[in-house]
Amino acid sequence: MTRGRSNEAEFARARHAIPGGVDSPVRAYGSVGGTPRFLVRARGASVWDVEGREYTDLVCSWGPALLGHAHPEVVAAVQQAAADGLSFGAPTPGETLLAEEIRARVPGAEKVRLVSTGTEATMTALRLARGATGRPLVVKFAGHYHGHSDGLLAQAGSGVATQGLPGSAGVPEPIAAQTLVLPYNDLAALATAFAAHPGRIAAVITEAAGANAGVLRPDPGFNAALARICHENGTLLVLDEVLTGFRVGPAGWWGLDETPFTPDLVTFGKVVGGGMPLAALGGRPELMDLLAPLGPVYQAGTLSGNPLAVAAGLATLRLADATVYAHVDRAAGVVADAVERELAAAGVAAVVPRAGNLFSIAFRTGTVRDYDDARDQEDWRYPPFFAAMLEQGVSLPPSVYEAWFLSSAHDDAALDRILRALPAAAGAAAAA
Ligand code: PMP
Repeated sequence: MTRGRSNEAEFARARHAIPGGVDSPVRAYGSVGGTPRFLVRARGASVWDVEGREYTDLVCSWGPALLGHAHPEVVAAVQQAAADGLSFGAPTPGETLLAEEIRARVPGAEKVRLVSTGTEATMTALRLARGATGRPLVVKFAGHYHGHSDGLLAQAGSGVATQGLPGSAGVPEPIAAQTLVLPYNDLAALATAFAAHPGRIAAVITEAAGANAGVLRPDPGFNAALARICHENGTLLVLDEVLTGFRVGPAGWWGLDETPFTPDLVTFGKVVGGGMPLAALGGRPELMDLLAPLGPVYQAGTLSGNPLAVAAGLATLRLADATVYAHVDRAAGVVADAVERELAAAGVAAVVPRAGNLFSIAFRTGTVRDYDDARDQEDWRYPPFFAAMLEQGVSLPPSVYEAWFLSSAHDDAALDRILRALPAAAGAAAAA
């Protein structure tokens, strides 16, 4: 316990210096209420707040902590890298090793450019698609989140969904107009868009499996149909694996999808940086070589391929073997089944949409296939559910529109703490 410190006091002080007291909106607990926990330490499946309270963590830094927090071998790799210099602004051998590691898992990412955030990865992928095709328009799906670049905030998921916003102020209308937003899992809507804008759609960007409006699993064959329709129209398919990549399996959702397909560009983030600021985009050489310095599409970054981030990413990917994925899959299944069971036992109408080891709650009946379905739920049942879990020492994503994340550090003791907390939380949701 850090004597005299409280989450309330930290939050009050933070709000004087930082807008909303947070550096990323959903952390503010806006939709669940209460005071965000100010964290000071994380290890394995647990995080600790300034008051010294331990929580079993189902946020996992919003995805990166596949191996649990502060895995000793990842920390050692970062410490070693730090001792050799924090940032060079010059190429390093580690960047090549990480690019090769990514390509070995996702062969479509034949060449890889490292950046620092998922936002940069998707923003660059779309610039590249426009540069390659000479076309202006981009298609995205409602409820999908691809970071906070101007063109991608329309009907976005994650915090934009949590706040119920249609988009963001500050995005000029001519830029917003370059993005066509379609319902997810709706191939007829896609065909209509292509018919309405012949020869003008540069790219379709899709989350490999939707996980930012709660989990929105692609219908079987949907991604493959997307790839086919894109290619028939001279359009590039950008597969956003920032969240799913190296988390749902060694080759991301692309490696799990029932129907084989070939995206043109793939974006990565989160797990690929092992908890450090690192993301990537990859694709076949003739596309990737359009990037500067070889080609006319500009992209750059002072901290791109930062040696500490590369060390964390490499160590994480090298440790993320079949045993790790089997463990995370099993742990996620245990928790998802228990959530479903306890909510049903409490008489709450709820479903638990799943995609690989990702899942979330939707307080409704019937399948959730698109953003309209996801919004059509009794979302007011989540805040009391969330609060009851937190009260019992389990930290959930502070929004019903976010996926839950487990790790290979979620052992039986951690799962037991989660399972024991669920009945009271389900009861709180029922009483809401
Ligand atoms: N794409 C997807 C699918 C994401 O889930 C996210 C972040 N949650 C991003 C892009 C943006 O990544 P970042 O927050 O690193 O900019």
